[in-house]
Amino acid sequence: MLYSKLFTKTSRDYPSDEVSRNAQLLIRAGFIHKTMAGVYSFLPLGLRVLRNIENIVRDEMNKIGGQELLMTTLQSKQTWQVTDRWDDKNVDVWFKSKLKNDTEVGFGWSHEEAIIEMMSNHINSYKDLPVNVYQFQVKLRNELRAKSGIMRGREFLMKDMYSCSLNKSQHDTFYQSVIDAYHRVFAKCGIGEITYLTFASGGAFTQFSHEFQTICEAGEDIVYINRERKIAINEEVLTDEVLNKLDIDRNSLEKIKTAETGNIFEFGTVKSEQTKFKFTNKEGKEQLVYLGSYGIGISRLMGVIAEIYSDEKGLKWPKSVSPFEIHLITNLDKNDEIINQRILDLAQKFHTGRLRLLDNQTIANYDNEADKDKLSLSEWSRHVEVFWDDRIKNNLGEKLKDADLIGIPTQIIISKRSLENGGVEVIDRAGRETQIIKI
Ligand code: ATP
Ligand code: MG
Repeated sequence: MLYSKLFTKTSRDYPSDEVSRNAQLLIRAGFIHKTMAGVYSFLPLGLRVLRNIENIVRDEMNKIGGQELLMTTLQSKQTWQVTDRWDDKNVDVWFKSKLKNDTEVGFGWSHEEAIIEMMSNHINSYKDLPVNVYQFQVKLRNELRAKSGIMRGREFLMKDMYSCSLNKSQHDTFYQSVIDAYHRVFAKCGIGEITYLTFASGGAFTQFSHEFQTICEAGEDIVYINRERKIAINEEVLTDEVLNKLDIDRNSLEKIKTAETGNIFEFGTVKSEQTKFKFTNKEGKEQLVYLGSYGIGISRLMGVIAEIYSDEKGLKWPKSVSPFEIHLITNLDKNDEIINQRILDLAQKFHTGRLRLLDNQTIANYDNEADKDKLSLSEWSRHVEVFWDDRIKNNLGEKLKDADLIGIPTQIIISKRSLENGGVEVIDRAGRETQIIKI
């Protein structure tokens, strides 16, 4: 992608109506647009980050046998009345509206009831189980407060997965595979070390639910972490009884602010009983489907990563979620047309993947047969994503400021100076190391 073609503009000014660091940076860097409090649009750069996170999650959900689908935002009143969750007294985040004929409809804040209603059309026999389905879907919630930028939206992207199992033991196996998959997701997103499996209040069936809490100053939760065992307890369930049960010494716990990035629930047969969601077992008898529900806040995760991976200059994306891999800057000389031709020629080659930076160490030439041995086949065929700041009018200082704000992990500068020094300048955004790499 060429910077000169990108319609979004960066801004040096801090948005006055925004208190959260993630939204301030993401707005200034042109990743998101604020429509109103808690409601944000994703612009090209922001959407690339969101999609990268989504794809990390998608891969892991597929690996554990999830089947992707997409449900509707509009939901029927009847579906939620069955479990008594239509009434605003019981669920205080509903957005509701009416059809022309006065029929009430709700905007999905969750899809738990809706998925059961749909799945019951497809599950009749023990032979149909287990089934695990998931989606990436916009949720609408009339949240009381929305001051955390994209970490708490009134409209936000969630990955929600639902498991239908034969019985508890089948459920438990899947539940554990989700815990493992979530750990892999957070590790790939660069927050594995600071994300804790957390015991939280359980809801309908079990004593606990499990949250994934990421240490983050801007988070809205308080948990007590045990670093050694890498688990945490949400303050809402911190009692002597719970500590005993988990065999945790109160003195080993550290109180810390976190953001809930994921949450998983065992419903057991509570909801299937309410909704009469049954299958015929081997003995020909009716049995209740055993249910679980598993969420990850995709847009919240992006906000948390932005909070953690940033400094006073801007964002510092981990490579795995960064909108691009390379931020290429060309700095043309005022007089030297010959050197400018060379600069543009090299830039073109980087942009089209014919020149590639390997391990921030060497530059390989795709046109050069001898260099091909240095790479595996998959590395050669991999598409390298280069964002090229090809703007002519902006000076190098401005371009570097923008590069630091946008936060792509590796910056490459090609200029007369770099060529005179023997190559291109490579800067690691996170470590701010500069080196000249020969071509
Ligand atoms: P919270 O306690 O933060 O309100 P929740 O318990 O309501 O979260 P769930 O209903 O379990 O959250 O939703 C699953 C996941 O969706 C959460 O773990 C979180 O990552 C994300 N999430 C929940 N509410 C929001 C929101 N308003 N904006 C962005 N992400 C959210
Ligand atoms: Mg909530």
